[in-house]
Amino acid sequence: MNYISTRGGMAPLRFSDVLLQGLAPDGGLAMPESYPQIDRARLDAWRDLSYAELAFNILGLFADDIPADDLRAIVERTYRAEVFGAAEITPLKTLSDGIKLLELSNGPTLAFKDMAMQLLGNLFEYVLGRRGQSLNILGATSGDTGSAAEYAMRGKRNVRVFMLSPEGRMSAFQRAQMFSLADDNIHNIAIRGMFDDCQDIVKAVSADAGFKTAFSIGTVNSINWARVVAQVVYYFKGYFAATASNDEKVSFCVPSGNFGNVCAGHIARSMGLPVDRLIVATNENDVLDEFFRSGRYRPRSGAETRVTSSPSMDISKASNFERFIFDLCGRDAGEVKALWASVASGQGFDLSARREEIAERYGFVSGRSTHADRLETIRRVDADSGVVVDPHTADGIKVARDLRRDGENVVCLETALPAKFSETIREALGRDAPRPDGFEGLEQREQRVTVMDADAERVKAFIRDHVAA
Ligand SMILES: *Cc1c(COP(=O)(O)O)cnc(C)c1O
Repeated sequence: MNYISTRGGMAPLRFSDVLLQGLAPDGGLAMPESYPQIDRARLDAWRDLSYAELAFNILGLFADDIPADDLRAIVERTYRAEVFGAAEITPLKTLSDGIKLLELSNGPTLAFKDMAMQLLGNLFEYVLGRRGQSLNILGATSGDTGSAAEYAMRGKRNVRVFMLSPEGRMSAFQRAQMFSLADDNIHNIAIRGMFDDCQDIVKAVSADAGFKTAFSIGTVNSINWARVVAQVVYYFKGYFAATASNDEKVSFCVPSGNFGNVCAGHIARSMGLPVDRLIVATNENDVLDEFFRSGRYRPRSGAETRVTSSPSMDISKASNFERFIFDLCGRDAGEVKALWASVASGQGFDLSARREEIAERYGFVSGRSTHADRLETIRRVDADSGVVVDPHTADGIKVARDLRRDGENVVCLETALPAKFSETIREALGRDAPRPDGFEGLEQREQRVTVMDADAERVKAFIRDHVAA
């Protein structure tokens, strides 16, 4: 399998190369040259596989430059009950109204990002080891991504993590999760500033080509192809769990921000998984809902981006969206390039002429949820089904309830556990969210963090000091 760029300016690469790459050299995103097609016989053969076996079969189609035995060992090491809390890895629950909930948040940081990031950690260690290289991951986080990256990379050979976060702006739970890690290869840096300051520092350090090469600076952001493809697996697993036979169809409802999660659903559907509709749920930051309703994509400015109670969906533009648009444009890289030039100029683009195709051929529909909707949904699901859901998952359930058709088998993706968002759970239910085993007293553990002014030179000096020459 070869990978090409959505903007057409990259010589074809293999999986291990795009694994370590951020953006393609032309500013586009890596995509497989074509989607492997899963026929009925293969779907039947996959129905009863364990999560790890299914992952091995699916990933093997995309990562065919890794020897099969090595890939199998990596996948078995990743998708274990000891890491994800249950042998099924992603158990499926049915709510009182028949809507199903696919649990994706039982990994070490209690959010679905662990599903892909845990694999990424093992893949990085393997590929870097084989090449005799090392990588210093520099990232900025306001919450879920940073902790998922640190828990995936902790203790891994050849990898160090330098994670910037805005001082005092994360929740006490998130701070405790990240700062209590004692591994030598994990470095937390709290920046006196906002999330944007952290992101600017990452950009400034990465723009220093000499430093970037000398210190092997890399990233793990959501446009990483390996993260997207790892997520394809749970759409298959969720489909099998929600149906009795491969004659049935399922619709997935996905709380969305950067479009990484639902992009994996689009890929699973394009591979031939019997998916009816892909329901995109947004919060008040509704750039994606606006697109799927109108065909117009109008990224917001930072000032227009609202801080909400489902913060991991507070985005102004959706970084993985370009992958779907590439397919929608019939894989015409020239057209994608022109559309994103228009995004860069602040104008966005208008594909309203293709609205019917987006819904009919690709199955996309969307809806939006607000703070009041989240609170109401958390209360109703608790009262009717005895399940406490987190605010992001609640956005999904609210939109699924609004859009579900008669007889439609809808699976909502659970993207985090409520324990991470206690404040909103208290507001909705008047009590704390349940805490999974092993997280008791998290906030009391010793914390390790270096506080610094928002200055790229200081961050560079810190990296220099901590990377053995
Ligand atoms: C990252 C995240 C999302 C958004 O996922 P995308 O892949 O960016 O669309 C939703 N909910 C939670 C809890 C997240 O951490």
